[in-house]
Amino acid sequence: MSQWITVLGATGSIGSSTLDVIRRHPARYRVYALTGFSRIAELVAAAIEFSSRYIVVPSVEAKQKAELLLAQDAQGCIVLVGEKGLAEVASAPEVDMVMASIVGAAGLVPTLAAAEAGKRVLLANKEALVMAGPLFMQAIRDNNAQLLPIDSEHNAIFQSLPADYSGDFSQHGIEKILLTASGGPFRNKTKTELADVTPAQAVAHPNWSMGAKISVDSATLMNKGLELIEACFLFNCRADQIQVVVHPQSVIHSMVQYSDGSVIAELGQPDMRTPIAYGMAWPERIDAGVKSLDLFEIARLDFTQPDHQTFPCLNLAKDAFERGGIFPAVLNAANEIAVAAFLAEQISFLAIPELIAQVVQVCPEQNITCLQDVLEADDWARTQANALLTNYRLDA
Ligand code: NAD
Ligand code: MG
Repeated sequence: MSQWITVLGATGSIGSSTLDVIRRHPARYRVYALTGFSRIAELVAAAIEFSSRYIVVPSVEAKQKAELLLAQDAQGCIVLVGEKGLAEVASAPEVDMVMASIVGAAGLVPTLAAAEAGKRVLLANKEALVMAGPLFMQAIRDNNAQLLPIDSEHNAIFQSLPADYSGDFSQHGIEKILLTASGGPFRNKTKTELADVTPAQAVAHPNWSMGAKISVDSATLMNKGLELIEACFLFNCRADQIQVVVHPQSVIHSMVQYSDGSVIAELGQPDMRTPIAYGMAWPERIDAGVKSLDLFEIARLDFTQPDHQTFPCLNLAKDAFERGGIFPAVLNAANEIAVAAFLAEQISFLAIPELIAQVVQVCPEQNITCLQDVLEADDWARTQANALLTNYRLDA
């Protein structure tokens, strides 16, 4: 029997890789809904190709455009609008699994809705978990949902942990998680060299092809910081139980080190279709369209320590996780504002960590008790970051 999938953020990098996996298994998966924020024509084309029952677009104007395009192909696809539409297609009773691949905080509400509806949640949208970790994990447990990490590192860790992992390192003889990082496009660069790097240079990742925001995060190492927080929530561990290892080839996607000296790793091509197919089919394995790894072609694997002086974002994230409460959400929101400003050429690359640090510094301690707390913290941090941005503007 085929399974119904909703793809949140279907027009993005992860979204299109997900559609590619679905395309290879038409008898196994059927598309319930596809969502997109821009590129409406592409979204409609995908909806037609996969006979999607719904699409979700951000505005009434986008809905009119989509309906016009759909009408030309006489499809029965229904167009929904906005956050309400996203939550609806993430939690509909017919849906078996939801690919959470919207970028940033915008993905939180629909991803949480999928968890609350007891779906299999394929989590690419790490920002949602970073912002609302305790609430999100509780929603997964309370509603018997399944959480399959799609981020390649977390997928590798999931594969390297015992199948009956209880959330307690000591019970399984686990010493630590070795979280690998490619080091991004600016690995080995000095601060002086980073002063005038451009958005185009920052998004040119050496190994992975990804959306603009995560590409900049990879260049600042904030991506690894967000992933450290993500791993702490997913696998119920402390930040000091995770060691970040720079591994420029991106062949090992992360590892788990055990007390008997064993280290278990997952290796593969830097192709997100592998973790996507793993999450979709788990516990089975299906063809992902990814070519087999040729170790002779790779020949060597290197490992170094991260450079915390040049790339302060990793420690900013670690501190935010350790301070707890709203700090991870505030860090994430400040980062989103800083990255958007850098991509718009309003601030320099080196201003990104400075701006985030300033926002975190003025943030008061506060616990998270409900979604509203998270959304308010996100809003507060965006306002602060936008106000502080003027200090860093290149045109000031
Ligand atoms: P992307 O920019 O290519 O795609 C983002 C998707 O989200 C698009 O479909 C876009 O239309 C949608 N979107 C953007 N803003 C939105 C909004 N306000 N409301 C609703 N939808 C919105 O990004 P991506 O690279 O595919 O990354 C998606 C998520 O997956 C991110 O959280 C990223 O950190 C994570 N991730 C990506 C990769 C990768 O290889 N690309 C790897 C690991 C994790
Ligand atoms: Mg990753």
